[in-house]
Amino acid sequence: MLIQTMADMVSAQREYLCTLDSTVGDGDHGISLTMALSAAVKKITQQEHPSPQSVLTQVGTTIQNGMGGASGVLFGSFFLGAGDVAKGKVATTLPDLVEMLTAALAQVQKRGRAQPGDKTMVDALAPAVSALQSSNHEGASLAVALQRAADAARVGAESTRGMVARFGRAKSLGDRSLGFQDAGATSMAILLEALAKAVDQ
Ligand code: ADP
Ligand code: MG
Repeated sequence: MLIQTMADMVSAQREYLCTLDSTVGDGDHGISLTMALSAAVKKITQQEHPSPQSVLTQVGTTIQNGMGGASGVLFGSFFLGAGDVAKGKVATTLPDLVEMLTAALAQVQKRGRAQPGDKTMVDALAPAVSALQSSNHEGASLAVALQRAADAARVGAESTRGMVARFGRAKSLGDRSLGFQDAGATSMAILLEALAKAVDQ
């Protein structure tokens, strides 16, 4: 199940995510996202009639309520944005996923105001959404499209090393944030890798 795969993959990297966050933030990112995702998994397994919309909305709400910090609101927005357009969707066709991830990005940007280049999760998510949209236009298969999106997210996350942070705690470091990879962009890339993996199974 997708959210379980996300929880497992983030949990496997939690030390690394905490290390990234500790160089510029408060060092809790890997732990807090792991805990928020496992709380979300617990909640959704209690749903009697789960649908993409009900699952995504509950995951988003659980993360927003439980994770705290700036990034809790933003990771919650990611799932809530996707959930908003998921009504009646099966979540396994490429056009549906394009629509959902486009809405997820829009919601994160509406909430957080970050643009590409600001050294945030947007630097992983925006290139992934672009890759997904191009793959859809080219008629790629779902598995190929999602792997390309995950790759674009990883490259995007890595590119944050060359950026100066304009949001979050890292902002206060100014130029000293250069050279460090952004934690939120890295975990966003892991979530998209989990999506590619879950759909491929
Ligand atoms: P926390 O208070 O939870 O420690 P931070 O403010 O340190 O959160 O941000 C952690 C992560 O959240 C960052 O690595 C970044 O990717 C992401 N982030 C912070 N602010 C924004 C924003 N305005 N828009 C998008 N992502 C953001
Ligand atoms: Mg933090």
